[in-house]
Amino acid sequence: MMDTSIGRRQFVQAAGVGAAAVAASALPLASADEAPAASEDWLGEPPMITDADCAEVRSADVVIVGAGVAGMSAARAATEVGASVIVVEQTDSFTVRGHTYGTINSRYQKSLGCEVEDPTEVVNEICRSMGNRPNQRLWMKWALESGPTFDWFEDLFDGTEEYFLEFWPRPEQYDESKEFRKQWNTGIEFVDWVNPQTKQYQKSVDQGAEYAFNMHAELLAKDENGVVTGVYATAADGSIVKFEAAKGVILTTGDYGHNIAMVKALCPEFYFSTKGNGIKIETSNGDGHKMAIWAGGWMEPSPHAHMDHSFQNMGGIGNVASLILNKKGDRFGNEDVDGQMYTNQIVRQPGMVGYTIFDMHWPEMVKNQ
Ligand SMILES: Cc1cc2nc3c(=O)[nH]c(=O)nc-3n(C[C@H](O)[C@H](O)[C@H](O)COP(=O)(O)OP(=O)(O)OC[C@H]3O[C@@H](n4cnc5c(N)ncnc54)[C@H](O)[C@@H]3O)c2cc1C
Repeated sequence: MMDTSIGRRQFVQAAGVGAAAVAASALPLASADEAPAASEDWLGEPPMITDADCAEVRSADVVIVGAGVAGMSAARAATEVGASVIVVEQTDSFTVRGHTYGTINSRYQKSLGCEVEDPTEVVNEICRSMGNRPNQRLWMKWALESGPTFDWFEDLFDGTEEYFLEFWPRPEQYDESKEFRKQWNTGIEFVDWVNPQTKQYQKSVDQGAEYAFNMHAELLAKDENGVVTGVYATAADGSIVKFEAAKGVILTTGDYGHNIAMVKALCPEFYFSTKGNGIKIETSNGDGHKMAIWAGGWMEPSPHAHMDHSFQNMGGIGNVASLILNKKGDRFGNEDVDGQMYTNQIVRQPGMVGYTIFDMHWPEMVKNQ
């Protein structure tokens, strides 16, 4: 669900509302001082757990680890085709982060007259801007399926949802040829982003999905042939529960932005830009990545691309209407870049500080951006 055409204003906006999203989902925030010390050994040894340690065994066709947007979508989809499902979640509720869904050619976008004629062009631009490192097949899947997937999500709505397509329609004076790079309007933004995902959760429950909250997944269980057959999790009282999966385990545990050792080793630029503090979302510990690797999975070599939600290095009010200066008063680059690109420059300035200078005519000038 990454919005690749994100512009600076969109990034700043997303970051601001994202911060609110954290509060809305009631996740505890760690202070910088509480961040764990960095270590090179981010993988560590898998915990020693066997069937003999389990106080309880629960079974389903599909076991999903993590009740975020991905896990709840998987639960809904699997129950829709008749699978029995258990979702194992370490907190006491489901998680909804993010208010903007990056999609192309959804029913909603088409109804507004915003259609992408050639999805390949979008994927090519993404790959070009990322040095051809991305998995193109995966991006193509997004380009072709994000629209129908959003339609499927929208099918749940009852009219109480408030959402809009960001930066659409484009202003009359908008001249794409003057943009730093080609843009597509992919961001569908929700005013209340918990509401639609609550429906997703409820739909999966109505279709039979069970949610095992306060259950921390520790290790994937395997049979004698090395096939993954389930997951071991620790309950709130410390007892171990085995969740057996007849058809498969889906890991949807989110990112590893709060695991400082992983960030340092795998996403060094993010480590650098967050001054070693990582992202302050305590549930994002890379547990799923580690469980998958312990079970024999492969991880893309570092450096991984980062999406900088550090909130420390945001751009200003916009780009074209402003002048960007560092602490020494030097203009350090082209103002007409995306928010993430702007952040990449700010963290390379003295003290990681940049100033956006604009004058009293900014409200008028912003309209021309
Ligand atoms: C502040 C903020 C704002 C964001 N805004 C946007 C946005 O606007 N648009 C966008 O596309 N993306 C946004 N993102 C990125 C966003 O995190 C992801 O798009 C989205 O949350 C990914 O969903 P997910 O289900 O993969 O992971 P998550 O939402 O992180 O869900 C993972 C779940 O797994 C659980 N879990 C983890 N480990 C275990 C374990 N060992 N055992 C059991 N459960 C476990 C967690 O508790 C959590 O509930 C934002 C991120 C942040 C931090």
